[in-house]
Amino acid sequence: MKSRLLFLGPPGAGKGTQAHLICKDSGLLHLSTGELLRDEVSAGTELGKEAELIMNKGELVSDLIVLSIVEKRLSKYDEGWLLDGFPRNLSQAKLLKDLLEKISQPIETVLLLNIDDQLLIKRMLSRGRKDDNEEVISNRLKIYRDQTSPLVDYYKNLGILQSVNGVGTVEDVNSRIKKVLN
Ligand code: ADP
Repeated sequence: MKSRLLFLGPPGAGKGTQAHLICKDSGLLHLSTGELLRDEVSAGTELGKEAELIMNKGELVSDLIVLSIVEKRLSKYDEGWLLDGFPRNLSQAKLLKDLLEKISQPIETVLLLNIDDQLLIKRMLSRGRKDDNEEVISNRLKIYRDQTSPLVDYYKNLGILQSVNGVGTVEDVNSRIKKVLN
């Protein structure tokens, strides 16, 4: 199976759930920048305090903060990983490219989870996280459209993008993903 993966897709597409399942089965390291940031917030660190204000508005935390979080973990780990929620804009994608070149670990596959906006909003509202209210959700979707979705073409041009339909049960989507990764 492919062992250096990146999951791309709008908030609420199910990246976290699917990434967790894939990593549980395969032993890859699951690196979710959203989860790592929420850990910092619960631990009450300086970084967490700074990030919380931004996350509660649905904005993006600074590129260098998320890069440092990822870099710390990736450079200690060389048995394969799955990046979930990072990169989220072209500047992060370029920072990541430099980091991966430095440690000689290029991305093998970028998996795009496709799903339409109506369903995203429904899923996020039912999840009930602090940043899952209507106003913040629409801001996150706008940021996804403006800043993150250009990464689809960026990775398509590198020839490593694979699309998967994210509509269906958790199990359905999981088996579609496995087919692509095997
Ligand atoms: P979702 O994909 O549902 O929006 P995440 O857990 O991936 O949830 O992210 C939650 C929040 O954490 C984002 O709205 C953003 O504020 C912050 N965040 C996560 N990853 C990044 C990143 N790579 N760059 C900047 N901010 C990030």
